Amino acid sequence: MDLAANMKALETRIQAACGRAHRDKASVQILAVTKGQPPERIQAAAELGLLVFGENRIQEAKAKIGRCASKLRWHMIGHLQSNKCRDAVHFFEMIQSVDSLAIAQEINKSAENAAKTMAVLLEVNVVGEASKFGFSPEELLAHLPAINTLRKIEIHGLMTIAPWTAEPEKVRPVFRQLRELKEQCEGILGAPLPQLSMGMSGDFEVAIEEGATLVRIGTGLFGTRDRAKDFKPDSVLS
Ligand SMILES: *Cc1c(COP(=O)(O)O)cnc(C)c1O
Repeated sequence: MDLAANMKALETRIQAACGRAHRDKASVQILAVTKGQPPERIQAAAELGLLVFGENRIQEAKAKIGRCASKLRWHMIGHLQSNKCRDAVHFFEMIQSVDSLAIAQEINKSAENAAKTMAVLLEVNVVGEASKFGFSPEELLAHLPAINTLRKIEIHGLMTIAPWTAEPEKVRPVFRQLRELKEQCEGILGAPLPQLSMGMSGDFEVAIEEGATLVRIGTGLFGTRDRAKDFKPDSVLS
């Protein structure tokens, strides 16, 4: 697994997708998903020019972030429990996985205590998969005004995890719906929402064609994970 070669291939495909959509390549940022990756590999990715990194578990993030260069920027991309909000606010620059009004309120409280304004994305379960977290489109529109009143939360946009498919073209409608939903939210808020976090290793090109500004890439950069060799937080904490 050659990280530099993966990165180059990824950049080429992002460039091509931007070309098809008549978009500037600078309008799409790679978020390197580092779950299971040890700090040394994250450092290697940072040396290739990657700036933003994503983790989906607080415990793993806590064990790793302090062992990585301080200039790295971190986004929380996994479901958050209310007793982990304090840590999430402390360790992350953005929480992409705000999936309920209750968790938004809890993050707001933690941010207030930390004297910090927390950037968030609201996670949408566009097609209502039972196995996934996220607001339904209807819930999102209903709760948006309440979330917008939370003073220590700044809504930057929407995030979704599309259903898994071997044919990315099939999830194009999901990405399109998220973009349309973002436009509806902008109408409600009377302000622009700059971020659409959608697309992963298997479907990022279609997501870019539909307007993604952040693509969350794990295996496309780091290769397929051998879970037995995954970074384990306990091994460094003990
Ligand atoms: C793991 C993960 C990704 C990256 O998935 P790949 O298919 O490995 O690129 C993206 N988003 C979330 C929320 C994840 O948990």
